[in-house]
Amino acid sequence: MNVAVIGTGYVGLVSGACLADLGHVVTCVDVDPQKIEKLRHGIMSIFEPGLEETVKRNVGNGRLKFTSDYTQAVPEADFISIAVGTPSASDGSADLTYVYAAAEEIGKHIKKYVVIADKSTVPVGTSEEVALRVSRYATTPFDVISNPEILREGHAVSDFMNPTRIIIGAATEQAAQVAKELFAFLDCPKLVMSPRSAELTKYAANAFLATKISYINEIAHLAEKLGADIEEVALGIGSDPRIGKEFLRAGLGWGGSCFPKDVRAIRKVGESLGHSMPIVSAACEMNERAKSRVVERLSEALGGLSGKTIGVLGLAFKNNTDDTRESAALELIKLFTDQGARVIAYDPEAHIYDQDILTKFTRVKTSQEVAKNADALVIATEWDEFRQLDLVKMRKQMKGDVLMDARNLLKPESVKKAGFISLSVGRRL
Ligand code: NAD
Repeated sequence: MNVAVIGTGYVGLVSGACLADLGHVVTCVDVDPQKIEKLRHGIMSIFEPGLEETVKRNVGNGRLKFTSDYTQAVPEADFISIAVGTPSASDGSADLTYVYAAAEEIGKHIKKYVVIADKSTVPVGTSEEVALRVSRYATTPFDVISNPEILREGHAVSDFMNPTRIIIGAATEQAAQVAKELFAFLDCPKLVMSPRSAELTKYAANAFLATKISYINEIAHLAEKLGADIEEVALGIGSDPRIGKEFLRAGLGWGGSCFPKDVRAIRKVGESLGHSMPIVSAACEMNERAKSRVVERLSEALGGLSGKTIGVLGLAFKNNTDDTRESAALELIKLFTDQGARVIAYDPEAHIYDQDILTKFTRVKTSQEVAKNADALVIATEWDEFRQLDLVKMRKQMKGDVLMDARNLLKPESVKKAGFISLSVGRRL
């Protein structure tokens, strides 16, 4: 099938490369000409395991192209995926500016029947508005479907190729068939539903997962007070298939480019309909508490944070990604520096867009360097390489002896054995 993917970010670039790997002929379009130029030269705009090889393989075999010109991609396409950003507007609602701009450009350039899929996470009713925007310019028939993406950054290529399900929100049988054909080689249930249900499914899933993390953090804080161990409790409850083991890791809470903005957007939609969402609201409150509790406990251990040096390991919102959008690690750094601490931080891949936060800490190139004269270390992102830290060497370089493992990555016994006071989230010390 001839496919156009609009947007070459985490979702667009991965979907474009993977659809090419499935045998489709794909052209990826982005309004950022520099990004396109780099991609043409095999330089990835993002860090995502397995992506570079997939892109290069398909550029090499001629099935994957990059352009900033819609006319190079849209007229020939049988299927167009819109994968542009939908950030939070200042009131918390989803900002659909990029989606609508893409829809209008598509409308100007379609030349035959095409299925246009909203892959971006968008509020209920957006596919209808996208259809209206396309129809302002289009002279040929088209359908708009909702096809929300469910990949996880850090596992995006593997998630795209091995999905648990594909959501197809289609109002016509023809559009549903085209979408099923596009994903025919992916062996998973293709769930055809109304566009409105598909749009709500994505928000409901993200809000549920965020709530699950907040829930385990709430229980973790209780476990600390009761002398129980959250990892034993998580295993105990997660072994019940009605609950499941995933998303039961206590820690610093959720962040990233999706959960915070999507949770804000679904609450905003509820609010606009006079429908309060107490569970989702509580999940947000708990998420703030997850960070402030780490700060409080560290402050307690150090006798206040003012004038202290804290070495932070990890800046990305989770491991295996360079994405720092709404990263809990960066929020933590703000909270530390607000209380007068000095922060030295390391991350192997993190890309920081927020210029303001860059002025608040010193970034170093190795994990060992964060330890130099530090009063405490904090693990803020669960990078695998932090499992192999030479803790004894780090401890020797430090002024203090506290290690707060805010992601429960290390065994408390090995932390203690290296001479640290070991703090973590909800675990017996
Ligand atoms: P991103 O910010 O990484 O990438 C968006 C890209 O779209 C950018 O390269 C930008 O230049 C481009 N763009 C903007 N307007 C354009 C236009 N009119 N025409 C062509 N290109 C345009 O965003 P992302 O993280 O890939 O997310 C995209 C959407 O997918 C969002 O709605 C997000 O919520 C959703 N989503 C993201 C993830 C994730 O893990 N990142 C997972 C599932 C769903």
